[in-house]
Amino acid sequence: MQHITILGSTGSIGVSTLDVIARHPDRYRVFALTAQHRVEELAAQCARFQPQVAVVGTAQAAQRLQKLLDEQHLKTEVCYGEQALCDVANAQACDSVMAAIVGGAGLAPTLAAARAGKKILLANKEALVMSGQLFMDTVAASGAVLMPIDSEHNAIFQCLPAQYMRAPSEYGIAKIMLTASGGPFLARPLETLESVTCAEAIAHPKWVMGRKISVDSATMMNKGLEVIEAHYLFGVAAENIDVVIHPQSVVHSMVSYIDGSVLAELGNPDMRTPIAHALAYPERIASGVAPIDLVQIAQLAFMAPDLVRFPCLKLAYDALRAGGSAPAVLNAANEVAVQAFLDERIGFRAIDRLIARVMDALPSCAVGDIESVFEQDRRARELAQTFIQ
Ligand code: NAD
Ligand code: MG
Repeated sequence: MQHITILGSTGSIGVSTLDVIARHPDRYRVFALTAQHRVEELAAQCARFQPQVAVVGTAQAAQRLQKLLDEQHLKTEVCYGEQALCDVANAQACDSVMAAIVGGAGLAPTLAAARAGKKILLANKEALVMSGQLFMDTVAASGAVLMPIDSEHNAIFQCLPAQYMRAPSEYGIAKIMLTASGGPFLARPLETLESVTCAEAIAHPKWVMGRKISVDSATMMNKGLEVIEAHYLFGVAAENIDVVIHPQSVVHSMVSYIDGSVLAELGNPDMRTPIAHALAYPERIASGVAPIDLVQIAQLAFMAPDLVRFPCLKLAYDALRAGGSAPAVLNAANEVAVQAFLDERIGFRAIDRLIARVMDALPSCAVGDIESVFEQDRRARELAQTFIQ
């Protein structure tokens, strides 16, 4: 029996994770669930999965949750705040942690799980983009097991030799090819991108996801963050990570080897596949995802990304090549810009301009410890807010 903490259980990934877990009560038990605000949803999850602990963002939210749990005579202990998130991520009674908080807020608890040597199912790409090699070194030092949940990285993991994660060299890998759907604006006339609305930006053609990652998909910053994520996860240099637009989202990514072989993982675009894969690895379990009908799909298309249309992708490659604090600064500026766009304070094209401006103002510096990462993250957020004003 694996005891699981789900950080961000009310989000898109959190709900998909609970869906898979519910199919296998003989294998998985929920130890803790966490959510920032959505107390009613969290209470319903507590009633169904009976976790030992539930964590929310504020004292007020904790009071509301406690009341809802009391009404149903539920015994789940209620906590709140960042320390409580870390406590459920590194608790003795927890074996695996699904890191599915969105953004930099997930870094501290995900790092706590890494330090404690847990099995980490990593959806929260921003945490890895911010802390990069420091995170990977922490995982290696504690003996934690890191399983990628991002569909592209999970696909790559499946296309690499089983021994690869322990000794990432000498396996004849030529390139990693990350596929990208291209998002909702792949074919929209360039000059109209300035006036894109929130509703248009979050209407992803293939995947149903949280609002932040949906906007990231529309700007293709999501793919940029994934290039950085792939670099740290798999130890592959920026010049050996390619992005290929593939609008059908059937091929979830590929690994190309020096002998000319290309291995791909295919499936319907449904996050329950990578979640089930990572939960059960190296075994396989049912996920609830429908089998793929290739005859029905009939055609798969691939094309090169247009960096004029998607400048965020170039900014992410720049940040990866600059190294040091640059990925954390890129991520922080992007989080502030996306939130400002969702709040209708800035336009769609201002997102990439704002990130570029913050990156220019805060050139890359060495980050030797996690405190320096948080410091650079804080400075970039402040600067981005100033520029917006
Ligand atoms: P979401 O917005 O649907 O859910 C986010 C979750 O995090 C919620 O449970 C929310 O309560 C919690 N949360 C938000 N802010 C928080 C804070 N400050 N402190 C603590 N908890 C907080 O997001 P999502 O789409 O499920 O994405 C989660 C992560 O997974 C992101 O990093 C995203 O990039 C990654 N991811 C998502 C998908 C997908 O299909 N949704 C695919 C690949 C990767
Ligand atoms: Mg992805």
